[in-house]
Parts: sequence; C-alpha cells; structure tokens
Amino acid sequence: MTSDDPRRRIQRTDELLKRHADEVRVLGRDAVKAAITAAQDDVRAGRVAVDGIDAAIARRLPTSTTTLRPILNATGVIVHTNIGRAPLAAAAVDALVTASGYVDVEFDPVTAKRAKRGRGTLAALLDRVPDAQSALVVNNGAAALLLACLAIAPDTSVLVSRGELIEIGDGFRLPELLQSAGVRLVEVGMTNRTHVRDYQRAIDDVAANGERVGAVLKIHTSNYRVEGFAGVPGVAELSTLGVPVIADVGSGLLAPERVLPDEPDTATWLREGATVVTASADKLLGGPQAGIVLGEETAVESIRRHPMARAMRADKLALAALEATLREPVPPVLRALRETPDSLRARTQRVADAVAGAVPDVDVVDVVGRVGGGGAPGVAVPSVAVSLPDRWALPLRTGTPMVLARAAQGRCLVDLRCIPEEADDVLIEAIRAVARSSRKQSAGTVN
Ligand SMILES: *Cc1c(COP(=O)(O)O)cnc(C)c1O
Repeated sequence: MTSDDPRRRIQRTDELLKRHADEVRVLGRDAVKAAITAAQDDVRAGRVAVDGIDAAIARRLPTSTTTLRPILNATGVIVHTNIGRAPLAAAAVDALVTASGYVDVEFDPVTAKRAKRGRGTLAALLDRVPDAQSALVVNNGAAALLLACLAIAPDTSVLVSRGELIEIGDGFRLPELLQSAGVRLVEVGMTNRTHVRDYQRAIDDVAANGERVGAVLKIHTSNYRVEGFAGVPGVAELSTLGVPVIADVGSGLLAPERVLPDEPDTATWLREGATVVTASADKLLGGPQAGIVLGEETAVESIRRHPMARAMRADKLALAALEATLREPVPPVLRALRETPDSLRARTQRVADAVAGAVPDVDVVDVVGRVGGGGAPGVAVPSVAVSLPDRWALPLRTGTPMVLARAAQGRCLVDLRCIPEEADDVLIEAIRAVARSSRKQSAGTVN
C-alpha cells in the first residue's frame, strides 16, 4: 500500500459511530459497530470505494429491530396461531406505545400506593360484559382455564365430558395441561354423547369414595365439530348440578355475533349460570395475547389470589392493547369476519385487473374461507379471491412483504378478507414483483 493509497483514508470507527448515531439509538451500538467493521474491511480489500463506506454500512444494517417480518394474510383464514392470531386495531397499537414506558399499571398516584393491576382494562371488560361481577386478565386462555380449575376446585375432582377433551394445537392437550398442574379430572359420558345424568352419576361416585367434585368443566370444542348422533349438555343444564361451572368459551366472543350464530359467547354462558367463563383475547375478540376470566366475584377473587396467578400475570403491553381493543367498536378481526363476497368483489377485481398484464391466466373466483384457530369450527366463510397460477405461492410467501396465499383447486388463491384495504397497492406490487422475477428467470433459462 503506497502512502497516497486512498485506502489509508478509511474513516475511524469512532467517527463512523458518531455519524451513524441515529442507527445506534435504534439498533444498538454493537450491531452498528459490527456493520462498520465489516464495511471498513470491504474498503480495505478494495471491494468498496472509500466514499462508499456509509452506503456499505447501511447495507449491512438490519432494516428492523425485530426478526419478525410482517405478512399480508391472503389465506382468508381470519385467526391463525402460526401467524400471530389477531392483528391489532390502530388504537391498540397506540396503547402499546403509551404503555412501553413507565406507566401506572399497578400504581395510584394520589395515594402513591399499589393499585389493582390493569384496573382500566378490567373496567372496560365489565362495561362490555355487565353480566360478570368481576374480571381478571392473565397471560393467555390456557392460563385462565388452568387457574380457574386450581382456584375453584382445589384438592377436589373436576368433571369433564369425553366429548370435550380437546387438543388445542402443536400437540398441546387441555386435559394433559390441567392434569400436569394437579387438577384431578374425571371424564364422564361418551365421545359423541354426554347427558346431565352422567355428570350426576359421577358426582355420586366421587362422593361414594369419600371425595368431592369441586367443579364441572364445560369446554367449547372450538377447533372441531362432531356431527350426527352427538351432543353434550349446555351450561344452563350443567348449572343445575349444584357444583360450580367453569366454562371455557375459548374463542373470546363477549356477546352473540350475528355472523356466527352457533358460536358461544361469554355473556350468554354467564347468564346461563356459569360460575366463571374463560377465553382468549387474541382470537375473535381481536386483541393481544391474553386470557380473560369473567364471573362471580368470590370465584374470580380466589383465582386472582391463587399463588400460581403470579406466574401467569398479564403484561402491561397486553393490558393496554386489550383495553383499547375493548373500547374499539369493530377491531380488524371483526371487520374481516363481517366482510361478504359482495363487499370484497370490487377490491378483488381491481387487484386482478392491476396484475392481469403481468401474470398469465388471472381470474376472480368464489372461494370458501374459515374463521380459523379457536372459533366456529366447520363454519364456511364464503369469499372471493384472485386466482393465480399455483407456482406463485412460494415466491409470494418468501417475498417482501410476505404474502401468504391459499393453495386450493391447483391454484394460488389470494383472498383480500384479512388484508386492510390500504395495503391493496402493496399487494399488487408484490404480485407484479413475482411476475418480473419469473420473467427474468425464464429469460435466463432460454439460451
Ligand atoms: C384457544 C383455546 C384455548 C387456549 O387459549 P390460548 O389463548 O391459546 O392459551 C383454550 N380453550 C379453548 C376452547 C380454545 O379455543
């Protein structure tokens, strides 16, 4: 290297760190320093010009502080655990940001003493479900159910119908979850049918053994449906047994929803006599991950005071986002649920027209969607979709942004139900980008 070699003029690390102070603030000093070191190496090796070092640093920096990448959900499946369940309303996102600093989540500024954790969220829940005397928010739906069993039926047996022993996904089974924490489950009835007299007989059998039934569990079979000669007693019948009823509604509808007339809801089950109702906040309720308990004051209080409750506490971010969701008239999940083929057709046609020049064989077709994980099993959601060649699916879902379409009928189906209208142009551009790169590839393979 000669004395006037431009590579001698490589800027020093501390100067570069100063110049990239904005990135340091967002991404942290270590990440920026690593990018600087690599860019300096590039200049030294002659791969990058001296005055190109800032661009080289920028290229090496992550564009986001999280490795999670946004997905445009074009599947038509509204709630899916693998892609983060409910998208939050804008108001809930604002609440998350507010709660990100120090906040009075468990503090009363007047007395300067501890206050009830998340009291604003609990008030919002009780406003939405006046049939409940008391409310509690925990980490998720599974925690709500587990805590309810532990607190309401300690050292006693809990009855559950064989028709309601469900696996909720990824191999997790509710009965195993409860038993692993010491809940003594007693199965009653048959897979397809259970009668009130089955529960009554089980209560008598347990008593004959000198033990006691502490609760009856009612679990909404939220992810499958038994058809034909089948049935289990409803909450109203179970509440005649003289034992507390813990009712896991799962999907989190707080009140009846006209689009899903057969889906249970917390208000109805409380009115039918459930002692407590438990639910997820990030399914049909459309909020952040959380578990909700609503019901009789003494029962909810015993759950709140249970030692295990501290290990399943809701985080302040979730409490804030849940409160905002509860005050939101139509969160995105409900909006998506209430879309109809007619309300979607014009948008769908516009997207199809916009990509027709770039993609061979584009069509608009009628399709049938699903509500998805934790709600309305077997309910068909009629919809429309842009139909693309099936080889479009992989490049779409690995592009930026990722577009997750549905593979069906040998086609790649793009359903706009769960895509916000503002994102239609981004979607069009994503489809055109796949067309461009597939043209480039086929041009490359011609010679
Ligand atoms: C989803 C679901 C659960 C689990 O809730 P998480 O919030 O995922 O922990 C429990 N019971 C029922 C009926 C469900 O649908």
